[in-house]
Amino acid sequence: MNVSSVLNRAKEGKIDDPDLKKAIDAFPYKAMENGSCEMLDDNGKCKVYDNRPELCNTDVMFEKVWSKKMSKSDYFKESARACNNMIKYSELPKEFLIDEKQFDE
Ligand code: SF4
Repeated sequence: MNVSSVLNRAKEGKIDDPDLKKAIDAFPYKAMENGSCEMLDDNGKCKVYDNRPELCNTDVMFEKVWSKKMSKSDYFKESARACNNMIKYSELPKEFLIDEKQFDE
């Protein structure tokens, strides 16, 4: 997740879903200069994954926010596409890319 972009959109009042806004407001970490989260380790893994904020938990966020707007498979496909775009943009190794087809119904 590009933390910087999400936090900025919330600050600019561009998040209209109250449950999403609440999850963003509760996000406790800062964005680094490159936009990524300060809790990413040098290998690109989350240092607090088992206790990650709600905003980072796709199952929780689907139930609270996105289930009102789309199917679960579309949600996972959209999430994978967004992650893949960031991976490509950041020129990370291709092995991090997520197979978006695995979420086809
Ligand atoms: S999953 Fe971890 S590294 Fe990623 S945004 Fe959430 S807290 Fe930060």
